[in-house]
Amino acid sequence: MVVRGIFRAVIMGPPGSGKGTVSGRISKSFGLKHISSGDILRSNINAKTELGLLLKSSIDRGQLVPDDVMSRLILTDLRAIERRSWLLDGFPRTVPQADFLDEVYSVHTVINLNVPFHTIKERLSSRWTHLPSGRVYNVDFNPPKVPGRDDVTGELLVQRDDDTPDTVTRRLKAYQTQTEPVLEYYRSKGVLETFSGTETNKIWPHVEAFLHKKLFVLNQKLL
Ligand code: ATP
Ligand code: MG
Repeated sequence: MVVRGIFRAVIMGPPGSGKGTVSGRISKSFGLKHISSGDILRSNINAKTELGLLLKSSIDRGQLVPDDVMSRLILTDLRAIERRSWLLDGFPRTVPQADFLDEVYSVHTVINLNVPFHTIKERLSSRWTHLPSGRVYNVDFNPPKVPGRDDVTGELLVQRDDDTPDTVTRRLKAYQTQTEPVLEYYRSKGVLETFSGTETNKIWPHVEAFLHKKLFVLNQKLL
């Protein structure tokens, strides 16, 4: 299904809840441009920009990047695709970030992936990432076609520096204290849609069906 107007969505969920994988499927099925805060930060780190180097140590410790820095980075990307539909992944992650976004763009839908913490801890330790694209694999349930290599480019996969057990625990803590209030923020605006489960492949059909319905209604209104 294509979107006639401009559709703006946010995907939320604890680290490792499958946001990246589901975002990839949403952008493929519905043509939304996927913007991931984590991918933006990691590409700065890879390119060894001044900002990237500055932020790497706190990211590796599982701490959030300051709100003003993150908000500015995201806004630059959003401004570049002013007239396109998009899906934000990893932003907003704090209430001040949600307030910031609300001042520039209104969000139509927030998809919340609700995955239990113990599932996440198991998952992140077996996760491998293709850093340039953000594509992720899991040696247990979503392995690459060739071990250690990205399916699309054939390039090497790595384990992220912040996917270590201690850092994962800290990231989950940061999620509880700083990001869970954002769910409340969007619930009170009436745009939050929660999907619960332990497997991305089982959650996905529900997300897909929901978006089909949502976009159908939106398209009718625009006719
Ligand atoms: P996943 O890889 O499953 O998405 P995650 O959500 O923890 O897990 P990223 O979104 O890639 O991972 O983010 C990695 C790190 O980048 C975070 O732990 C945090 O330090 C930083 N970061 C990402 N987005 C934000 C944000 N909106 N505000 C502040 N820091 C952020
Ligand atoms: Mg991510």
